[in-house]
Amino acid sequence: MRYSGLRVFTQGLLGNTGWKPAWRKPAPKAEYDVVIIGGGGHGLATAYYLAKKHGITNVAVLERGYLGGGNIGRNTTIVRANYFLPGNSEFYSHSLKLWEGLEADLNYNTMHSQRGLINLFHSDGQRDAFARRGNAMLAQGDDAVLLSREEVREKLPYLDYEQARFPIYGGLYHPRGGTARHDAVAWGYARGADQRGVDLIENCAVTGIDIAGGKVTGVQTTRGAIRAKKVAMVVAGRSSQVAEMAGMRLPIESHVLQAFVTEGLKPVINHVVSFGMGHFYISQSDKGGLVFGGDLDFYASYAARGNLPRVEQVMEAGMTLMPMIGRAKILRSWGGIMDMSPDGSPIIDRTDIDGLFVNCGWNYGGFKAVPASGDSLAHLLATGRPLEVAKGFRLDRFRTGRGLMDEEGTGSQHNLH
Ligand SMILES: Cc1cc2nc3c(=O)[nH]c(=O)nc-3n(C[C@H](O)[C@H](O)[C@H](O)COP(=O)(O)OP(=O)(O)OC[C@H]3O[C@@H](n4cnc5c(N)ncnc54)[C@H](O)[C@@H]3O)c2cc1C
Repeated sequence: MRYSGLRVFTQGLLGNTGWKPAWRKPAPKAEYDVVIIGGGGHGLATAYYLAKKHGITNVAVLERGYLGGGNIGRNTTIVRANYFLPGNSEFYSHSLKLWEGLEADLNYNTMHSQRGLINLFHSDGQRDAFARRGNAMLAQGDDAVLLSREEVREKLPYLDYEQARFPIYGGLYHPRGGTARHDAVAWGYARGADQRGVDLIENCAVTGIDIAGGKVTGVQTTRGAIRAKKVAMVVAGRSSQVAEMAGMRLPIESHVLQAFVTEGLKPVINHVVSFGMGHFYISQSDKGGLVFGGDLDFYASYAARGNLPRVEQVMEAGMTLMPMIGRAKILRSWGGIMDMSPDGSPIIDRTDIDGLFVNCGWNYGGFKAVPASGDSLAHLLATGRPLEVAKGFRLDRFRTGRGLMDEEGTGSQHNLH
């Protein structure tokens, strides 16, 4: 069924009785060409591009819960291409271009909104660093504008410019940055993959990975054994646990990241804004809630819930930057399990086990990466070669020390990236 304005209109007249489920609920088959473990954004996008670009449709996505119940439905929805280091910057640039055509490609309203992202800076040194980042973005072919304090004030009049503990010196403006509705991205990819014949199998946890003679042969699941020629582990915060099923130890630590949303308010914040002197970022959802977050909880955990000290710190940062936020009521907070890599950059690669692939290490930036990550892993699975923009995301960089991409410049501590 093709979605369109006309269909919404006619269905309205028909009492919305003609809509069909967006994807089937197939039983698992005994064997697939490709099994993707994990029905989050990256797993679903991989399945979609495998079918669409490479014609590989004998594919199953195995999800232990429901599609979109992981981080893809828990993030703060920021989409941007403002990375600095070669390796990362061309990848996220490619991703943003895919975002820009995604709704038409998927025939699905992902509510992608390029409302612009502004990273504030609060010192001369920070201005220099952001100017450098902006130049790297321009050199990559993306957009960046260095704003003065007065230009920031014009765009963001609600910030504290008078008595701020950390005065605002200006901001790096990325006009093509913005947000997208996270669940819709999962649903759009799921529907597109299903339409092309991919089996999306929910409530199907992988409990073991079968290997014979150094080659993957299939997986064990809570719904029985499934044979596969190729298996891709795309399970974000659970990456270490799933890799362990294949006897692998990944360079990944899982940490909790929290987010918050206020009651719905009239439009007040028209951009995505990030604070330069504390980890705090904010945007306003289409329903009116102010959506914001901060740093990790700073210890490894598989519990998708956060702790109070971080709540306090995020609220403090918000109040420092925009005191008006103190008048809004928090409606909800939640947590997600982040797959933190030592250099803060992801991994999309084959493993030492023939036919077994891994996609992980997205830290807290994997939502914006979904289109390019799916495209890259599908290319690798289909052709055996990495997509040019993802060729740096090798697993062995942590073994050899060559090709590390330390975007934050914080060294090899997972919790600092
Ligand atoms: C609070 C928060 C804010 C964030 N904000 C942003 C942001 O603004 N911008 C941005 O770019 N990124 C952001 N992120 C990061 C982004 O959400 C993640 O990097 C990305 O969603 C991870 O990839 P995924 O969507 O595939 O993960 P997930 O949706 O977590 O998918 C992995 C799936 O694997 C499944 N799984 C696990 N184990 C098994 C198993 N054994 N068998 C079968 N299935 C299994 C899980 O159930 C899950 O559904 C944020 C994350 C959080 C938590």
